[in-house]
Amino acid sequence: MFDSSGNPKAAYTAVLDALNAGGTVVPSSAPPTTDPASDCTNGYVALTFDDGPNSNTNTLLNTLTTAGVRATLFNTGQNAASNPSLVQAEADAGMWIGNHSYTHSHMTTLSSAAMTDELSRTQTAIQNGGGGTPAIFRPPYGETNSTLESAASALGLRTVTWDVDSQDWNGATTAAIVSAANNLTDGQIMLMHDQYATTIAAIPQIVSNLESRGLCAGMISATTGRAVAPDGTTSPTASSTASPTASSTSQPPTGTGCSATLRVVNAWNSGWQGDVTVQNTGTSSISGWTVTMVLGTGQTISSLWNGSSSGTSGTITVTNLSWNGNLSASGSAVFGFVANGSSSPAPAVSCTSS
Ligand code: ZN
Repeated sequence: MFDSSGNPKAAYTAVLDALNAGGTVVPSSAPPTTDPASDCTNGYVALTFDDGPNSNTNTLLNTLTTAGVRATLFNTGQNAASNPSLVQAEADAGMWIGNHSYTHSHMTTLSSAAMTDELSRTQTAIQNGGGGTPAIFRPPYGETNSTLESAASALGLRTVTWDVDSQDWNGATTAAIVSAANNLTDGQIMLMHDQYATTIAAIPQIVSNLESRGLCAGMISATTGRAVAPDGTTSPTASSTASPTASSTSQPPTGTGCSATLRVVNAWNSGWQGDVTVQNTGTSSISGWTVTMVLGTGQTISSLWNGSSSGTSGTITVTNLSWNGNLSASGSAVFGFVANGSSSPAPAVSCTSS
């Protein structure tokens, strides 16, 4: 699963295996997301991670969430089909999900029909995992031709490669990966992979360096193929396929306003994971939102991402971060959390906009 030939898949470290043992949800040890507070004056770049989801994906998601950034994850169809809960975890963490072929083959050696099969089976696998319908495709090894472009285009997929190669697949050190990111300029895309400890270790410094250069992590436009602002809405590829399972309150669909809908993503003996979808119900855009959440007895928030919370128990408020507060009419954003206690009854949620 590499973007250059001849590199055997490295064994995961024992540490990462231990961290990931049995993990199918974002671990409750994840610290709250912090606002990166970058001014983005010099534009946006896209951080991308290929070849997942796999046993390292939860570590990647926690690292990105802690750093306060969203990234684009190019999943292979076979890995998405094997790990549907990790596809859901990617979407729940606010990541954008792209198509990276089904078997990670050299696509230009295939017939047109086989290309279409690789691409469409991957779309289905990602959809089945709850990752929405990808609009961008990264060919394995960056290898493409006109036949492949046509096959992708017919499925609504724009081909995207990269501007900066981290060389993580080629044994680059963490310092070298950090250094490569220093070459990124507005609109550019950086290639990394899902499965290397060196890459994970580089993320906090990469984000810090980008901030110091006035650059923010953004999404890849399916229209232009370039990095753009996250646009304050949930990813087009992360539109929820899950049905709401808990309370929702909304303001009248006139003027400005928003609704909040809580969904229980997963539950276990002593805790549970939820997400809250904030929807602009008005006819004009809003520049920020605040969700009031009334937690029941024994329900305490142990971690929360993609939002800033006022507390961990009782009645708390969760406000948007700098990148997900601006919602166009009918736009939406999602924040997630892990709570102790029982998920039932689910906390009541309501939304106000600014
Ligand atoms: Zn790859």
